[in-house]
Amino acid sequence: MEIMLHWEEPVSFVKGATAPVRKAWESLGIRTIGDLLLTLPRRYDDFSRITKIAEAQNGDFVTLEGTVVKCIKLNSFRKRFAIFRLMFEDETGKLNANFFNQPWVLEEFKPGRKIFLSGKIAIKAPYGKTLVSPIWEPAEARTLAAGKVAPVYGLAGTLIQKTYRRLMQYVLENVEWPEDAVAAGELERMKLLPLQEAIRAVHEPNSSNHAEQGRRRLAFDEVLGYQLALGAERKRSTEAGAPAIPFDQNFAKKFVESLPYPLTGDQKKSVWAALQDMERDQPMRRLIQGDVGSGKTVVAAFLAAHVHRHGYSVALLAPTDILARQHAITFQRLFAMHNIPFALVTRTDKRLYQGREEEVLKNEQVESLAAQGNVVLVGTHALLENGRLPKDLALAIVDEQHRFGVGQREALLLGSRDDGHVPHLLSMTATPIPRTLALTLYGDLDISLIVEKPAGRLPITTKVCHGEQREKAYQAIRDAIGRKEKAYIVCPLIDPSDALGVTSVTEEWKSLSKGPLEGIKLGLLHGRLKPKEKEETMEAFKNGDVDVLIATSVIEVGVDVPQATVIAIEGAERFGLAQLHQLRGRVGRSTMPSSCYLLTDTEGPGLERLMTMERVQDGFRLAEEDLKLRGSGQLLGTQQSGHEALTIARITDGDIISQARDEARRILDTDPDLTKHPLWKRAVEGMRDAAHLE
Ligand code: ADP
Ligand code: MG
Repeated sequence: MEIMLHWEEPVSFVKGATAPVRKAWESLGIRTIGDLLLTLPRRYDDFSRITKIAEAQNGDFVTLEGTVVKCIKLNSFRKRFAIFRLMFEDETGKLNANFFNQPWVLEEFKPGRKIFLSGKIAIKAPYGKTLVSPIWEPAEARTLAAGKVAPVYGLAGTLIQKTYRRLMQYVLENVEWPEDAVAAGELERMKLLPLQEAIRAVHEPNSSNHAEQGRRRLAFDEVLGYQLALGAERKRSTEAGAPAIPFDQNFAKKFVESLPYPLTGDQKKSVWAALQDMERDQPMRRLIQGDVGSGKTVVAAFLAAHVHRHGYSVALLAPTDILARQHAITFQRLFAMHNIPFALVTRTDKRLYQGREEEVLKNEQVESLAAQGNVVLVGTHALLENGRLPKDLALAIVDEQHRFGVGQREALLLGSRDDGHVPHLLSMTATPIPRTLALTLYGDLDISLIVEKPAGRLPITTKVCHGEQREKAYQAIRDAIGRKEKAYIVCPLIDPSDALGVTSVTEEWKSLSKGPLEGIKLGLLHGRLKPKEKEETMEAFKNGDVDVLIATSVIEVGVDVPQATVIAIEGAERFGLAQLHQLRGRVGRSTMPSSCYLLTDTEGPGLERLMTMERVQDGFRLAEEDLKLRGSGQLLGTQQSGHEALTIARITDGDIISQARDEARRILDTDPDLTKHPLWKRAVEGMRDAAHLE
């Protein structure tokens, strides 16, 4: 008998997980068997319906079941390029399938062998129906994908889908299932699958609905764990208390006068509410929720300046280098007249200090700034490394909190001061989630809404361009560049093996630079670039000679380049409405008219969904529409590094999220230290530790 795999064991225990596979998993944030089982497929391919060759139409994605007639190697004129042609039949007809550079298929495709083929049908004269590089599987063995709803996992490095599926099957067969933390009766009441069944359902579903049931159960656990962890931290914070910051009216007046624009009513209200919160010796917990471009950064800067004025330190934590940098630049501008020492702390070695870029801050210098105190630090989670948080930290500002792990949040709140107090907490988000959801996800906190847009903003003209109509978008971009404005082009990630978007961005650049955007200076931004290269590209786009930025959706979060007035989103049907709205928010950041073009080849309901973007400008309303349409469902965290707090739960999981909140409250009411819930206690500790690994 095989030795069972345990949940906490490293993935190196999986038979067949070679070094390159482990490396790929590592880069996807998968270290243990448990990580592997809880990393969901990105999507599913439905191969469960077998199509007959006679019924297969041009362009269809099909799975065929049939017999090998023969397989031959074709003569190719290109060196080191081999084509193999499989002739295949079922009882309704014949078809060819082409394979490239896979000499072993000659061995596999022996006449008479029964196999499955899955792929896209092309009808090409004179060959008739053809499949190009289909996936195939022997029909005699237990099938991994063909004939089923097959999981499609996120890939990295040299890891391929087939290997991933095979290893996953091995793990599912050999794992020792952990005990379910939710009692059977509770599961029944909440209509949730048992843990074991849920995990099986997401990796080996009987149907798409089955997979979704599985995901919902896992989302419940994720949110409940998160809630319990937040609850524990809240309890400790409340007991600890916070340094009270008295309101300084003179300074507030001076700060408002120094701003380059008048604050909107909602900005004022948010600042005012937070200033009042901080006057108390209980830690503030406030969330500022405002649509993209509503101007949250200035609110943060105001509060930071006020706390600094009172003699304490402030830290602002942002989820990406680009964002942290941008916040630092905004702060620099807004602090210019107030002599406030601040520094940008990210993983890159060039650290903006007092606005002087040439200045490279060494670790020791960051630490000495922190030790000195009364400073404003802006950064990514690099800020949380030992010794970088000032001991007199009185205000912690977190941009998009749900993108951070529980451990990171705790390090920020509980890991800095040594006088037993905790800093006040201000969270900011542009994620348009309903109030009750926000309360649940961020822990119970007070919410300030910024609805009102800064004066003079025009609505962003949005246009869906189908097929050939793309030319309209390119024309608009050329016109904008003619007016010395800037433009974005966003590319979707098409191929899961291209998680960093290198291929999609490069392909787009190739076709545009020789076609509709010939002669225009194009910059590229994708996940493979080094932080420094990203910075240089952003800088060239902002102030230099890059006029059009071709990027993956990394620009989704918060990039602020006011001269950019046109954004074109390629393959728009692949994005959720909420995400499209975030992307659209990259333009319309000045008083110049802006436009957003959604480029697509999709038809039917997908096209109609995109049309809502033309009608609806408001992010919150779009989120509601998205909920109604129940599209793909945007994830609450992001999938990119695997470290974020929520990778399974989605915005559309409102019912699950409130169930989890109620359950968390129930547990915390009677058992705040989780002594009677050891399984949850372990889960919460695991959450914390996972984030500390960083
Ligand atoms: P977000 O809420 O998306 O983070 P930002 O803070 O980046 O928005 O602000 C978006 C843009 O609006 C910035 O260029 C900022 O300078 C500008 N802005 C913010 N508040 C105002 C205001 N009250 N009046 C005019 N412009 C403003
Ligand atoms: Mg922002």
